[in-house]
Amino acid sequence: MRVVDIIAKKRDGLELTAEEIGFFVRGFTSGEIPDYQVSAWAMAVLLRGMSTQETIDLTMAMVRSGVTLDLSPVAPLVVDKHSSGGVGDKTTLAVLPMVSAAGLPVVKMSGRGLGFSGGTLDKLEAIPGFNVSLSVEQLLANARQYGIALAGQTPELAPADGKLYALRDVTATVPSLPLIASSIMSKKIAGGAGALVLDVKVGRGAFMETLEEARALAQMMMRIGEGVGRRVTAVLSDMSQPLGKAVGNSLEVVEAVETLHGGGPPDFLEHCLIVGAEMLLLGGLASSPEEARARLLKTIAEGSALDKFRTWVRAQGGDVRAVDDLSLLPHAPVVERVPAPRSGYVAGIDAREVGLTSVDLGAGRERKGEPIDPAVGIVLGPKVGAWIASGDTLLTIHARNKVSATAARGRLLAAYIWSDEPVSPRPLVYKIMRGKLTARANAMPKRMNPTTI
Ligand code: URA
Repeated sequence: MRVVDIIAKKRDGLELTAEEIGFFVRGFTSGEIPDYQVSAWAMAVLLRGMSTQETIDLTMAMVRSGVTLDLSPVAPLVVDKHSSGGVGDKTTLAVLPMVSAAGLPVVKMSGRGLGFSGGTLDKLEAIPGFNVSLSVEQLLANARQYGIALAGQTPELAPADGKLYALRDVTATVPSLPLIASSIMSKKIAGGAGALVLDVKVGRGAFMETLEEARALAQMMMRIGEGVGRRVTAVLSDMSQPLGKAVGNSLEVVEAVETLHGGGPPDFLEHCLIVGAEMLLLGGLASSPEEARARLLKTIAEGSALDKFRTWVRAQGGDVRAVDDLSLLPHAPVVERVPAPRSGYVAGIDAREVGLTSVDLGAGRERKGEPIDPAVGIVLGPKVGAWIASGDTLLTIHARNKVSATAARGRLLAAYIWSDEPVSPRPLVYKIMRGKLTARANAMPKRMNPTTI
């Protein structure tokens, strides 16, 4: 088999076989195939696309490039969640304790923020002492003991994806549907989960800006997951404005804790209930979305979700006192209130601009590995659809110094669209796509359900 023939075949729009894809992935993981040939191949894939079978074969070849976690000691079926990334998306921080407190153990690998999109690891690290660098053994031991554990992606899982992604980043080949879908799904499959809720964000603050693109990505990931026997549900959710009100690491921890207390912004709570309910349904812990939702609400009302959050923080070395005394979390020295420049209805808050402003304040990074400031960020006031009087608080900026606060103020004010007429916000969730395997499993008598045998 010759590498150049595989590249030419893809260049000419032909379908690669599983053997060819396996040979290619093994070659670039070991370093035998040089970067220039991998780059040419990636560009051919971007321009020509891949069939569903090729995409599944690519995903599984990347899974086989490293180790696969065996989560069976944790539970017969572990349900994972994955967000395609957004602004103010602290869902994992609240949903994991809710779902775990409802009886479904959760083990998760997460990433760091990059560009306008935040990352769960950065948010959790805002809690003093919280350790996200668990070994696989520690991760599994914590999951078994406490029913909840989260760590950074280990380099042993799907290493081919790490190499390919680094090349795609510098060869303008990131925005290819089969490459994105196989990249995400290879890490999820290698992570060992038997079922997965994909939270695919749509809008200015997301990777996918249109519903069509998001649906196509979700469908492709569902086909890959189901093609290898995983149950997958995709939630297509809005990211035209930030989720909830807080954007910035420590501020987002505060919002997640308030939500677990039964407070928090209604849109954030609702989003958590939708994603969490789909996780419980996949895990066989509820037979309808209504039942799942009621179980999750009970974990908040009874305080078991907040207890689980405390357990989680303690288990991963965090200062659990900060959960009950939020003043122990990092605080920015400059806090500036920004009044509304006019009266009117908020018609739009550009999530990408808010995310980028938060990066400028220091809450995120432009390049991998850059340090971040856990304390800084933005807390929004009224969101899309609300009416606000001139001079009332539109938002609050948390900054390291006056200069960065002033720069953020102008940029944030420009991110708002105003209307004199009432405006309806976009739906929080556009669509929930449940896969065939999910539908079949839910139709099974309870005793046949993999989580209950
Ligand atoms: N996230 C990933 O993990 N991979 C991609 O290709 C894009 C987003």
